Amino acid sequence: MGRNVAIVGATGAVGVELLRVLEAREFPLDALRLLASPRSAGRRLRFRGEELPVELLGPRSFDGCSLAFFSAGAGVSRAWAPRAVEAGAVVVDNSSAFRYEPDVPLVVPEVNAEAVLGHRGIVANPNCTTILLLVVLAPLHARAGVRRCVVATYQAASGAGAQAVRELEDQSRALLAGEEPRPERFPRPLAFNLFPHVDSFLPEEGFATREEMKVVWEARKILGVPDLALVCTCVRVPVFRAHSEAVFLQFERPLSLEEARSALSQAPGVRVVDDPEAAEYPTPRLAEGGDEVLVGRLRVDPSCERGLCLFLAGDQVRKGAALNAVQIAELLA
Ligand code: NAP
Repeated sequence: MGRNVAIVGATGAVGVELLRVLEAREFPLDALRLLASPRSAGRRLRFRGEELPVELLGPRSFDGCSLAFFSAGAGVSRAWAPRAVEAGAVVVDNSSAFRYEPDVPLVVPEVNAEAVLGHRGIVANPNCTTILLLVVLAPLHARAGVRRCVVATYQAASGAGAQAVRELEDQSRALLAGEEPRPERFPRPLAFNLFPHVDSFLPEEGFATREEMKVVWEARKILGVPDLALVCTCVRVPVFRAHSEAVFLQFERPLSLEEARSALSQAPGVRVVDDPEAAEYPTPRLAEGGDEVLVGRLRVDPSCERGLCLFLAGDQVRKGAALNAVQIAELLA
């Protein structure tokens, strides 16, 4: 049986990708309602060969709706997700609004699919950087137990939304024309630059950024390891799409390189791309548009006992958001 589905934030970077993923996976639905702010109400978006109208999010938006994807930021989720649940819908929320609430499952289907069973109307989609990391980390953790994890990220402009992509385009053109780029959404010029500043700084967390702490808080919740030793530096880079991460792991138990490679080769949602001499390793361009998280540059970390280094890249709009949300909806069905 199909369902009536709503997408809040349908015109955004993640919303548009949700339409693509629902179409590609032939997700069973009877009707699809596209919702956004007054800026986009009245526009039309293509889905399964039809032009669907974008409606203004409002009090009647969830009438008759059984499933709602939220992808319009935490404020909109806080204000409207409970109303969607009241109207009888199950909400899959892409924002950070409910991720840390104990009765809200935080789910990466390849890692903790069973957690979805405990939902009480809302299931949270983790942060994109966390999803990509955990798809790779979980199979290694299952084999050898992660004792410590150090991550540095290389995050694409699209992680900050559709407008941020346009800002990188405009800045790149301006710089090439010899003009000074003007940052609007980003704190610094991003074109031909990078900066270690994604989301706000948290004085109470030693001036880690919220994005960096999201990875820590969420990895602990999803893996069920409340004291997992994890530290992260998040860096915005002038890439349009797909995040990359350099990951340094130390394990509790011995894990040879061959065992790590074998665990990753068999892991769902992972593709090993690791022939460095042929210049084959994960890159954002290779990851763009794909469902899998690419992992390579696997090597022993000689600086500690039972250490492993790796590099991963994944499309954060797709697996880091839209695809993960649709996979959650498939689990719910
Ligand atoms: P975006 O491109 O800026 O899109 C935001 C969407 O929300 C647009 O459709 C916008 O509609 C809508 N919206 C904004 N304010 C609204 C309001 N008051 N009422 C109704 N709709 C409203 O952002 P995004 O990158 O898609 O991100 C959406 C959510 O997903 C955020 O919570 C983000 O943290 C999360 N997320 C993003 C990524 C990523 O890689 N981009 C990855 C994981 C999670 P209008 O067109 O009308 O403005």
